[in-house]
Amino acid sequence: MKVYFDHGSTTPVDSTVVDAMLPYFTKEFGNASSLHQFGRQAKDALEASRQAIAKEINAKPEEIIFTSGGSEADNLAIKGLAYRLGGKTCHIITSKIEHPAVLNTCKQLEDEGFKVTYLDVDPEGFIDIEQLKTAIGKKTILISVMHANNEIGTIEDIKAIGQIASDNKVAFHTDAVQSFTKVPIDVEDMNLTLASFSAHKIHGPKGVGALYVRRGTKLKKLAEGGHHEHDMRAGTENIAGIVGFAKAVEIASKDHVAHMTKLRDKLINRLLKIPDTRLNGPRKNRLCNNANIAFNYVEGESMLLRLDMKGIAVSTGSACSSQSLEPSHVLTAIGLKPEIAHGCIRFTLGYENTMDEVDYTIDAAREVVEQLRAMSPLAKSK
Ligand SMILES: *Cc1c(COP(=O)(O)O)cnc(C)c1O
Repeated sequence: MKVYFDHGSTTPVDSTVVDAMLPYFTKEFGNASSLHQFGRQAKDALEASRQAIAKEINAKPEEIIFTSGGSEADNLAIKGLAYRLGGKTCHIITSKIEHPAVLNTCKQLEDEGFKVTYLDVDPEGFIDIEQLKTAIGKKTILISVMHANNEIGTIEDIKAIGQIASDNKVAFHTDAVQSFTKVPIDVEDMNLTLASFSAHKIHGPKGVGALYVRRGTKLKKLAEGGHHEHDMRAGTENIAGIVGFAKAVEIASKDHVAHMTKLRDKLINRLLKIPDTRLNGPRKNRLCNNANIAFNYVEGESMLLRLDMKGIAVSTGSACSSQSLEPSHVLTAIGLKPEIAHGCIRFTLGYENTMDEVDYTIDAAREVVEQLRAMSPLAKSK
């Protein structure tokens, strides 16, 4: 059996998304900036897609800026605002569990002289709201806290954070790449100034994403060029990708969320029956497709490779940190000791997964954990 349980890294493109994209490579290949009919066709497709994505988050179409993905959207939000508001003594607040696209952007700004506060999280990954309130100062220009964490699935209380940002007249950015179409997003209700999205985490194509930019917010563009995307993001728009992104949003459904929740709960409950395991991240306010389990006395990479031999694709940490030997910054931030953090596996589901795949994976995981523990001196000495 082949089982893909790594949707947090990327997802297969839905076939209806592919079908929607195809005409825009060949017959309708125009440049949306051209004034002739080919250009107008592309422009119409671009604006219809913009409208579809705006509608999903209760934004206005002109508040959606298309980018090359979630990473660029995060960079544009944070650097775009920081550079536009200038003053290197400006202050930014973020959290310790952000995606590297946010965390490393903040580190770069710190190197350039900006002040950055990295908020702690509790053992389930929730930021400390009181610490946030006290961190806000006269020079604070931006709060950036992710909506849902990509490693442990924690869904932050974005509405409460947005209220605090709004009360203090500070811009608020959220990386909503993982939560998009899984958790409702309302930019008005949540007092968002900026929000990042990506197509390939929701069964759309890679290399396309979007940034929500509240009307009246000015950003410095990252790359010079033409006046595309309200003069905030230069470059000929990726029409096929953008059309695919909008289609992926359109086909996402509550039924998918309910299905993934059912699979997730069985996976979590049954894996926790294996001795010496724990769930990373919360039970409530958890992404519908995320299960992250610590298997004590097991080396995560070894478990990943053995599951891979059984056809099951999972991840240790996130794709971006799995190449490094450092324990994941997220697992460290929730207080896991390095030896425990190295034994964690992330299972992330998609709507095409089945209960049979979950059952197969539970049996395989139990077998692999037993094998690895039989070889582990730590497990033997306990
Ligand atoms: C995947 C991911 C990103 C990066 O998006 P890309 O489109 O791959 O650049 C950013 N933030 C989070 C939370 C992610 O999961």
